[in-house]
Amino acid sequence: MPYGAERIAVLGAGGFIGSHLVAALLDRTEASVVAVDVTFDKLEARGERLSLVRASIDRPGLLDEITSLCDVVVSLTALCNPSFYNTLPLAVIDASYTDLVPLVKLCAEKRRALVHFSTCEVYGRAALDGAGGRLPAMNEDEAALVLGPVHLERWSYACAKQLLERVIWAHGRHHGLSFTIIRPFNTIGPRMDYLPGIDGEGLPRVLAAFMGALLRGEPLRLADGGGQRRSFLWVGDLVEAVLRVLARPNACRGEILNLGNPRNDITIRDLAERLRASYGALCPGAPVPPAVAVPASAIYGQGYDDVQERVPDVAKARRLLAWDPAITLDEMLPWIVADYLGRYGVRAAAGAA
Ligand code: NAD
Repeated sequence: MPYGAERIAVLGAGGFIGSHLVAALLDRTEASVVAVDVTFDKLEARGERLSLVRASIDRPGLLDEITSLCDVVVSLTALCNPSFYNTLPLAVIDASYTDLVPLVKLCAEKRRALVHFSTCEVYGRAALDGAGGRLPAMNEDEAALVLGPVHLERWSYACAKQLLERVIWAHGRHHGLSFTIIRPFNTIGPRMDYLPGIDGEGLPRVLAAFMGALLRGEPLRLADGGGQRRSFLWVGDLVEAVLRVLARPNACRGEILNLGNPRNDITIRDLAERLRASYGALCPGAPVPPAVAVPASAIYGQGYDDVQERVPDVAKARRLLAWDPAITLDEMLPWIVADYLGRYGVRAAAGAA
């Protein structure tokens, strides 16, 4: 079993990635899974090897219990919606840093392996080397981490994630913690986020924001015109890589791994247009609302900042995991649109009427 593990804790198991990961762990390994989250609405997986713990990870004693019970902890909890970074920065910092420092210490003390989800946001504004020269892609072991000034609160998330990486790294180097840090790049798929007014409030991440607009028949809002580029990774490709990390502890111990798909690098405007096309193809005759440019400040408010391009260097993940992300945008977008239509179509149309 992974890391010699019979029991794996997944913190944040009820979220987008967690719900896919838990299903795969149950389907494709023999492990018992202890799933922790404050909500399990998205977790369709059930079974004898799955225990659900509905609690916040800051509940006193919980992390102590989990790290006593489990051999490996996969930590996914975070407030990772960009609309929170500059509006709820203290909660964002606590979720990605303060609440997780005890977990890192407990894993080090009790010799539990930690597979921690950080983020590609730690690279910041651009792929630069230590001397400020441009790199062709964001590389785990060479890139400088280039965050914006403190008054641009958007960087609270990236900074908290980066500091936790440094805490994990130091525990690995100085206290024997067995860890792998994963930096996902824009992972998308079914069950991402929520639709405002239906099963959540506020502004979801861009995929769900565009899907909500399509389903309600409202314009898709492109922050500053949507010229920013992102490399989109299918959630199934991400989960496949995480299973390989768990299965190859010796190769992955002490490593930071980008997980992304550099072949799916497009602008946000292009993403909107492709979603519009998929939606039109799946709903012939339905009106397809336009994509419109809106100032980013009108969407995200004061203290926002953006990254113009974000291409992962996945050479290390390819080498250590024998992994190659396979799913193209042309394949994944119709699946995603069909999933949102199935889950929300009727309710969204009722709300729009
Ligand atoms: P998500 O918001 O869907 O899932 C996070 C889950 O954590 C939620 O279900 C939430 O309820 C839970 N959670 C938060 N705080 C908690 C607490 N105190 N106690 C218990 N549960 C708590 O996010 P996701 O997209 O599944 O992302 C998972 C991880 O991957 C996050 O750490 C995120 O930063 C990282 N990541 C994701 C992406 C992506 O593209 N999806 C990209 C980069 C990094």
